[in-house]
Amino acid sequence: MYIKNSKIIVIKIGSSLLIDKSKKIRKKWLLEFSKDIKELLNQNKKVIIVSSGAIAIGCKKLNLNKKNLKLDKSQAIASIGQIELMNLFNKNFSKKNINISQILLTLEDTEQRRRSLNAKRTFENLFELGFVPIVNENDSTATTEIKYGDNDRLASRVAQISGADCLILLSDVNGLYTKNPKFDKNVKLIKEIKNIDKEIERISTKSTSEHGTGGMKTKIDAAKICQLSGCYMAIANGLLSRPIIQIIKKNNCTWFVPKISKLDARKKWIVGSVSPKGELIIDDGAKEALKKGKSLLAAGIKNVYGKFNKGDHVKILDKNKEECARGLSSFSSNEINKIKGHHSSSIKELLGYIAKSEVVHKDDMVEI
Ligand code: GLU
Repeated sequence: MYIKNSKIIVIKIGSSLLIDKSKKIRKKWLLEFSKDIKELLNQNKKVIIVSSGAIAIGCKKLNLNKKNLKLDKSQAIASIGQIELMNLFNKNFSKKNINISQILLTLEDTEQRRRSLNAKRTFENLFELGFVPIVNENDSTATTEIKYGDNDRLASRVAQISGADCLILLSDVNGLYTKNPKFDKNVKLIKEIKNIDKEIERISTKSTSEHGTGGMKTKIDAAKICQLSGCYMAIANGLLSRPIIQIIKKNNCTWFVPKISKLDARKKWIVGSVSPKGELIIDDGAKEALKKGKSLLAAGIKNVYGKFNKGDHVKILDKNKEECARGLSSFSSNEINKIKGHHSSSIKELLGYIAKSEVVHKDDMVEI
């Protein structure tokens, strides 16, 4: 049901789904998986795939054991494996006429708001062009201090910045059990989790799979991020053929239910999390437009106070200095000083480069 109601879906594939225990690539599985993706696209859903496997596939190519690798070596191997990984996707997805693109992210791309907004726009543009973005961490340049290290948390941040309605972590287990199914037969799959309490933390053991770096622990961390961003998250068994259809039909997985609605999550972030860096004074026409849920355009801006960068938090005030909204600016204060009061069509000429037409996009704004 959660998948059916979702417009934007992020699906994370663990390395062990692409490479089996005898180090063979699971080509048939990938082709079957592409059918699932095609079906979602046919239902007009937007899909982002977060795929691990660069290091595992690189190791396979070079006949190396992943476990004993030093970081600098694994960076080089990721660069070798990533291209193989994408070739694999391209080969199988093109059979179903699915266009794919590659995005390699580093930690700052999601943790810095400005960069995360850039990434968000890239996802949106790829959706418009009809492409399925395939994301991985940029393992070739990331060092320990600036690394996610696991694609579970990366996927949850991708879900958050892309405004996804649900994230599916495809793993080699059905979900979270009341006890570790490897050691105990008397276990039950937990179908739905609303609150990640101490008991859930306790039972999410640190067991890792053969190829991946994440275990249940990183999946629970990912679930916490999703719960606060209004995004449903599932841990599901990806080893099955057509894993997404299986979830839709059988729902034999663990779902984490968000604590707050999507709108609340966004509002909370915009209104509460960062102190505004500047102020935009707008005219009555713009104020009326904001009330109707429209974006703020340069033409309606009378003045700019403060020094801020693109992506920073700003207050939006009317001519009497009453706050009417808060949002994230798509331009720096310097840029707004150049374009304020002007029609959007002259932005290119005034700045010397093509930019967005909205100064604060309606999706990045909360009316007060
Ligand atoms: N980014 C790593 C890779 O592609 C995988 C990280 C993970 O296993 O979660 O090899």
